[in-house]
Amino acid sequence: VDRLTDKTALVTGSSRGIGRATAVNLAREGALVAVHYTANEEAAQETVALIEKEGGAAFAVRAELGVPGDVHELFLGLEQGLKERIGESRLDILVNNAGVTTTGQSFEELTPEDFDRYMAVNARAPYFIVQRALQLLPDGGRIVNISSGLTRTANPDQLAYAMTKGAVEQLTLHLARHLAPRGITVNTVAPGITNNGGAVFDIPEAVEAMAQLSAFKRVGEADDVADVVTFLATHEARWITGAFVDATGGTLLG
Ligand code: NDP
Repeated sequence: VDRLTDKTALVTGSSRGIGRATAVNLAREGALVAVHYTANEEAAQETVALIEKEGGAAFAVRAELGVPGDVHELFLGLEQGLKERIGESRLDILVNNAGVTTTGQSFEELTPEDFDRYMAVNARAPYFIVQRALQLLPDGGRIVNISSGLTRTANPDQLAYAMTKGAVEQLTLHLARHLAPRGITVNTVAPGITNNGGAVFDIPEAVEAMAQLSAFKRVGEADDVADVVTFLATHEARWITGAFVDATGGTLLG
């Protein structure tokens, strides 16, 4: 049976990659999914179409995160979409997935402006999205924050990015305590290298090298991560909160 019938979900950054797979997966379990994006309208509509083709329900919401007014814009679209479809703006499941990755600047090169932008999108936005979402989340709600295996393994070229994800993990830890009285669980899922459809995944030698990092000797697929997120959103995962869930395919085993 569908585990998320009558539930609603927001997956930030679900036009592509892990977010898209998560949106599709949640919808497959019966949830009505808000597919959030910022630039890629066509890709967001494609996610919605994928869901509808399988008989699921979804709608797209645009909002650029990391800029003033971001949360306001996001919730304007979210609440309108929910009200149109279920007559109220209840949000059962929030997945903070949208993120920007550093593009190879070294520790020495990274500017304060770059640093602020990574922080604003990856760490500040999730904080205030949760703050705002609390008005819509019922008791028993679910929050899943997407981090990265990079918080557990040193990679100086991704230092600023890893710092933003360290912040995301703090959001999980402290909010898990704060929201437990309401039966709301808050967990972190940390992917390793995951095929998000980006250009690098079309280069066989690059994929082969990345595959070696996983204990299973392959790169992750978006579904590998989406399945984990979806489980955490179900009733079956009600006893898990504040957890760091390693979804790196054993990359952290060393
Ligand atoms: P992608 O780069 O494939 O997609 C990013 C998504 O986030 C898109 O939907 C994009 O929207 C949205 N987004 C990006 N910036 C903003 C912004 N400023 N405002 C609003 N939306 C934004 O992501 P992945 O699937 O690779 O990654 C998803 C999450 O997983 C991220 O948090 C990432 O850090 C994390 N992760 C990914 C790994 C990987 O190997 N892929 C490894 C470890 C962690 P649009 O399409 O409109 O641009």
